[in-house]
Amino acid sequence: MNDSLRKSLAALVSQPVKWDCLLSRYTSFSIGGPADAVVLVDRREELVPLLSFLERENIQWRVIGRGTNLLVKDSGFAGVILILGKDFRSIFCSFEDSSASVDVSVGGGCSLVRLSRNCMESGLAGLEFVSAIPGTAGGAVIMNAGAWGAEISSVIENLTLASCDGEQVVERENLNFGYRSWHDFHAFSSKPVVAEVTFRLEREEPEQIRERNSTLRRKRKVNQPAGLATAGSFFKNPPDDSAGRLIEASGFKGAKVGGAEVSEHHANFLINNGGATAADMLGLMDRIQEKVKKDSGINLEPEVHFI
Ligand SMILES: Cc1cc2nc3c(=O)[nH]c(=O)nc-3n(C[C@H](O)[C@H](O)[C@H](O)COP(=O)(O)OP(=O)(O)OC[C@H]3O[C@@H](n4cnc5c(N)ncnc54)[C@H](O)[C@@H]3O)c2cc1C
Repeated sequence: MNDSLRKSLAALVSQPVKWDCLLSRYTSFSIGGPADAVVLVDRREELVPLLSFLERENIQWRVIGRGTNLLVKDSGFAGVILILGKDFRSIFCSFEDSSASVDVSVGGGCSLVRLSRNCMESGLAGLEFVSAIPGTAGGAVIMNAGAWGAEISSVIENLTLASCDGEQVVERENLNFGYRSWHDFHAFSSKPVVAEVTFRLEREEPEQIRERNSTLRRKRKVNQPAGLATAGSFFKNPPDDSAGRLIEASGFKGAKVGGAEVSEHHANFLINNGGATAADMLGLMDRIQEKVKKDSGINLEPEVHFI
């Protein structure tokens, strides 16, 4: 990006732009080369003009959340990475009437863990399953994040999407989600940004919600490795089977390529055990896919997204 474009970009946002910035800092894998720019979009009114500028100037861009489902190439990203800041991290509950359900609107950059805790304390049930998912509301919508049989799409009431043309509200009946994906993501604009999500939640005693939260967190502790550089489940579960079971059956627990390793605890968790590159991770992914296909005939599809 030339100096003139850099100046114009910097003038569109209130936060200082980070130039030539390593993306490994922004991913839970701690992997990824530099992006030309990382832009923290703090103010809601900055977003659409910024998207228009990037479109007009033909600059590649991508919005990310907490980078907890991302593998970024070692060569990085020749373009601009957007992160939704302050205005996109708010939580607003409309408690106006005494009906059993309550709409909660959150910015696309809101942490799922904070949202879930907030809802629990306010006596709003329905988001307990995200209480230990480390991403943002926007990332969770794109991924149709879920756990223990529940999915985020089942509690979405509507989405506010931003694009270079402006903002648009899409109601739940016009949204089409599938397992770990939002199928008609591109139907609303070529690349929409999830600016806001409204969830419809049910009133319940906070203690009961707290109990369910604790049970789910305990189950997670037993079943998944904690505190490691991972992106959670690397592959989607194939229909009626589990990716972890297939990977384990093919003998990959503990397998390594460079610094990338298959967890001994849960075979669908690939780990950066220190100094792994994206090439190591992709090498391990290829080996797993090839062997599982040979052993079981099943094509494992990555759940993680790539930049
Ligand atoms: C320890 C661990 C446990 C996990 N457990 C689970 C689990 O139980 N269930 C589960 O489903 N996932 C799980 N994950 C994966 C991950 O946390 C979820 O997929 C989460 O929803 C991703 O959110 P994010 O903000 O980090 O998105 P990112 O990883 O930053 O991005 C994911 C995708 O969404 C896009 N995106 C992000 N924000 C926006 C936005 N506002 N608008 C448009 N596009 C956007 C990105 O471009 C990218 O394509 C786990 C991850 C880890 C590290």
